[in-house]
Amino acid sequence: MLTDRTTLTQFLIEEGRRHPGATGELNSLILDVALACKAIAKRVAYGALGGVLGAAATTNVQGETQQKLDLVANDLFLRANEWGGLLAGMVSEELEAPHPIPERYPCGKYLLAFDPLDGSSNIDVNLSVGSIFSILRALNPGEHAAAQDFLQPGAKQVCAGYAIYGPSTMIVLTVGRGAHGFTLEPQLGEFVLTHPEIRVPAAACEFAINASNSRFWEPAVTRYVDECLAGSTGPRGKDFNMRWVASLVAETHRILTRGGVFLYPRDTKDPAKQGRLRLLYEANPVAFIIEQAGGCASTGRQRVLDVAPEELHQRIAFIFGASEEVERIEQYYRDHNVAEYDTPLFSSRGLFRTNG
Ligand code: MG
Ligand code: MG
Repeated sequence: MLTDRTTLTQFLIEEGRRHPGATGELNSLILDVALACKAIAKRVAYGALGGVLGAAATTNVQGETQQKLDLVANDLFLRANEWGGLLAGMVSEELEAPHPIPERYPCGKYLLAFDPLDGSSNIDVNLSVGSIFSILRALNPGEHAAAQDFLQPGAKQVCAGYAIYGPSTMIVLTVGRGAHGFTLEPQLGEFVLTHPEIRVPAAACEFAINASNSRFWEPAVTRYVDECLAGSTGPRGKDFNMRWVASLVAETHRILTRGGVFLYPRDTKDPAKQGRLRLLYEANPVAFIIEQAGGCASTGRQRVLDVAPEELHQRIAFIFGASEEVERIEQYYRDHNVAEYDTPLFSSRGLFRTNG
C-alpha cells in the first residue's frame, strides 16, 4: 500500500534537500514529536480500557482541571523530546515554567512549545482531541533556554503542526512551504502523506463560534454573526451553517478540509482577558498552518503571527479561516471603532428578542 505513497520521514528528507546546509536536526525533532503523538493516539484509542479517563486531582497553571490524559500526554511529549540534543527547552500548557533539558543530555538549537492534549474535556465523551506544537529557533543554541526566549512572534516559527485523534489519527504540519496532512497507518505505525498542499476553500458557508457568549461580544462580531444568521435574506445573500466542536484541533481540521471561519474573539465577559486561546501553543501554530494553506488568522485587530508575546501562557483573541471572511471581520472591527452597530437580530423586533 506504500508503493505510490510518501511517508512523513521521506517527505521531511525531501523538504530538507531544498535547504543546502540543513543538518537533519529539525527532521529528527519533528519525528520525535510524531512519536509522542503516536503514543498519545494509542492511549486515546484505548479509552476506558486504558484506565486514563476522567479528571486528575490537579489543576494547571491556568486554573483548569487537568484530565488524567493531559498529564499522560504531557509526559509523553517531554520524554520523547528531551533526550535528543535537539532542544534548548520546552513550554507546555500543563507546566507553569519551561521544562529544562535534563543535565545528562545536551541542549540543541530549537525550542518546542506544545499543548499535549487539546480539547481534553472531549475525552470522556469520545469525541476528537488533538495535540498542537510549535518549533522556534533557540536564541542561544546549545544552552538552556530562558522563559523569555520563547516570547517570539509566531512569524518566527520554523515548523508548526497538530495531531488529530479522530476516527483516524493524522498529523498536519508546515515547515514553511504549504500545509500537508499525513494519516497514521496503524499496522506500520507510519504517518503517510494523504493530504498534500492543503488549501482552505476561499468561499465559506460555515462559521464556528460559542454563541452562548453572544451577550458579551464586541459590535464587529455581533454584526458578522447577525449577517450570517440572516442568511439569504440578509446582506450576505446566502445561508450559513453554524458549527461548534469545542476542540481547536477539530475546528482547525474541519476548516482546512471543508472551509469556513472560526471565532474565539475577545469579549466583555472578563475585560482583563485578551481572549480564550493561548498564543504560543494554540493560536500561533494554527495560524502558521492556516496561512500556509491560503487562509488568514487574526485577532480582529492584527495578524496573529505579528503579535509580540508578553507571557508564556498569554491568551489571545483568535479568528481564522477563509481569507475573505477573516478580512471582512477585520473590516467590521475597523468600522465599529467609530460607528456603533445596532443589532437588528437582537433588538425588540429581532430574531432573538431580549424583552417580551
Ligand atoms: Mg488546548
Ligand atoms: Mg490541552
